Amino acid sequence: MMMPIWRHLRSSRRVLGFVFVASVIWLLLDMAVLRMSDGDANSRLMREKVILEQGLARHQDKVTQVGLGEPHVNEEDEKSDRRNSQPVKLSRRRKKEQVQDDASQVKPNAVVQDDASQVKPNAVVQDDASQVKPNAVVQDDASQVKPNAVVKQPVGLSLIAAPKNDSVVLKAEEVLEPVKATPNISLQASNQHQDAKKLPGKKKKQIEELPVQGPRNTSSVKRDKQNGEILDNNIKVVQVRDTHSVKASVHQVLSIDLTAAPRDPKAVGQYGLAGTVPSLMDSVVKKRWNEGQFNVYLSELIPLDRALPDTRPEICTRNMIHDDLPSTSVIFCFVDEVWSTLLRSVHSVLNRSPPHLLKEIILVDDFSKKPYLKDNLDKYMEKFPKVRVIHLKERQGLIRARMAGAAVANGDVLTFLDSHVECNVGWLEPLLERIHTDRTKVPCPVIEVISDQDLSYKLVDNFQRGIFHWPLVFGWNALSDEYVKKNNMTPADPIRCPVMAGGLFSIDKKYFYELGAYDPGLEVWGGENMELSFKVWMCGGQIEIIPCSRVGHIFREQNPYQFPLNRRRTVERNLARVAEVWMDEYKELFYGHGNLHLLEKPLMDIGNLTDQIQQRNKLKCKSFKWYLDNVYPELEAPLVKAAGLVFNRGLRSCLSIQNGVLVFDTCHLSSQSQHFNYTWLKQVRQQDVCLEPSAKQSLLTLQPCGDGSSSNSHKPQRWLHKSSQSKLPEHLMVEMGPKQMCLEAAAKEAVLHLAPCNANNLFQQWQFTNYYSE
Ligand code: UDP
Ligand code: MN
Repeated sequence: MMMPIWRHLRSSRRVLGFVFVASVIWLLLDMAVLRMSDGDANSRLMREKVILEQGLARHQDKVTQVGLGEPHVNEEDEKSDRRNSQPVKLSRRRKKEQVQDDASQVKPNAVVQDDASQVKPNAVVQDDASQVKPNAVVQDDASQVKPNAVVKQPVGLSLIAAPKNDSVVLKAEEVLEPVKATPNISLQASNQHQDAKKLPGKKKKQIEELPVQGPRNTSSVKRDKQNGEILDNNIKVVQVRDTHSVKASVHQVLSIDLTAAPRDPKAVGQYGLAGTVPSLMDSVVKKRWNEGQFNVYLSELIPLDRALPDTRPEICTRNMIHDDLPSTSVIFCFVDEVWSTLLRSVHSVLNRSPPHLLKEIILVDDFSKKPYLKDNLDKYMEKFPKVRVIHLKERQGLIRARMAGAAVANGDVLTFLDSHVECNVGWLEPLLERIHTDRTKVPCPVIEVISDQDLSYKLVDNFQRGIFHWPLVFGWNALSDEYVKKNNMTPADPIRCPVMAGGLFSIDKKYFYELGAYDPGLEVWGGENMELSFKVWMCGGQIEIIPCSRVGHIFREQNPYQFPLNRRRTVERNLARVAEVWMDEYKELFYGHGNLHLLEKPLMDIGNLTDQIQQRNKLKCKSFKWYLDNVYPELEAPLVKAAGLVFNRGLRSCLSIQNGVLVFDTCHLSSQSQHFNYTWLKQVRQQDVCLEPSAKQSLLTLQPCGDGSSSNSHKPQRWLHKSSQSKLPEHLMVEMGPKQMCLEAAAKEAVLHLAPCNANNLFQQWQFTNYYSE
């Protein structure tokens, strides 16, 4: 009995042994395969494939994971995400955020202070109404995300820390291929994303260790020497499917800069330093200058991915940013842009933007003539999947070219940039953050200066805002020290601007269209910054400069492209359209401050404005007076140039209208019949009647005032008085055909007539009671 059992057992042992050996072999093979695939995955291309597949799988699961650069390869998370219909797997990072949220410590858009108990909100988000700052700093209204607010997000995004040894995988598009080299990949530490093990109880220390501002601080960058990939500070953003309320989570602003350790540190212009050209090349420099109205020759010697000094105020590196920012399409419009500057602009965006926020870059070629901007450009950009090139079939001008870009944009936000810029580290998130906080905010970066001569990158002063002078001329204006002090402003606080410079800004795409986009009747260049600024402010939005976002721009003395019409006329015509639609009675100040020909609107033909006026009415936008009172009260905008009694020096009495007739009378300040305005349209006016030479020329009549419109310009009602254009400022001078005649009180009859101008004749000298403007 025992024997058969034993034999049976022996034979089953053999079977068992066989099974065991087979399992071991299987296991070893399996491990080998795993190792191989792991080894392969270390190559960037393979990883990309893995990522793409994973991305696809996740997409199929309707659970998206995007990351810093691209989702990292983290099998654990992948599986759990795919298995789970609730993909939010709280990592240490996420937990830490919760702790912060719960402890009421970190505020959206806040700056983290060393002492957590003293976290000071970015001035813009005020908890305490008593601290609300008037005017210069834009205040968020109550609808905005408040610290620790529970935000309802149908599709929320939460941040998950990647394990420390995961690498961010960069797509081929981040490689600047035409400049052959290994990509310079580096990430300035965003300590909030560092290994969470370090974090509990060490917040203070962590913040003290933050890199200080200055040219590249590579100490904060950890990278894998072998493959150049980032080892630290990885994040992964997981789209949350559930529709329950989730806490707004934030992270410290990302300081992505793939150029931080440049390939060729000694290259010309590297680190934003001034480049020099040997003097024997002077003639070439000069010859090529006209191609772009800057040092085109030098620009070609500078790497397309040069490093720049981080010029942000130090406090900016600690800004807190929401995890679920909208994505953006960056739109560059250009006409005959220089190759090197166009490419440097594009690479600066690719190299210094969080890839998960950069939906695409749209290059709109505004019918350039340069051949290299056609096939060559298309071919070059083929290597960068995020870049799209559109060639317009005819010259549209900057304004309509931007709209062509916007029309095909897929991002949530439109970011318009000039085609000769360099975006600096951390430039994008602070802009998108403002829009995330309030979609009617239109944030602009600080525009720093790239020298047109030596291409050096120059940091600009803080606390500058965009303003305009008459007649709608854009300018910069520094906030006064007292103002900054009084309002307790930090260098990171958004600065509200009456107008934007125009070239560089972000705007929520839907909001842009709700506003009616740009006036498509604006030609070539100019005025569109005024149009959008007035539109935004008067229809409920805000224009801001965000000091933590910095972009360099080559300022040129001349436009390097042709204006199909004359440049000045084009700009004036654009501005006149803006004034007609947006400035109500104040448009007279625009016309009045311009050269005399601005009053010659019949010659200007500013086109049809029906749609623009309708749009303003539809949006129920506020008045220009509201804009002046609330947004730009500093602007001197008296509705008339002078007003009061009109005193004649020779007669020593005042002009008066009695029974519809012009007479002289003893001056009485309280007499309404003696009260006249001298307007910006140069009319001498009482109510609706204006002083006008009669057909008989030497006599004067009262006529209904012209409104200056093209059909009713009423040139004869235009009197020069106290004008810098006149040698006889005390006189009231009118053009009579080719001649100039002056208003004179006839000494004996005390009546008015016109006479040839005479500098010394007191009867030709007039004085209004009040002058409001020179
Ligand atoms: N631009 C354009 N079409 C035009 C005029 C200008 O696409 O008809 C582009 C130009 O190439 C540049 C941007 O619009 O990228 C702004 O023009 P520019 O730099 O001359 O303006 P500025 O910086 O002097 O205000
Ligand atoms: Mn420009």
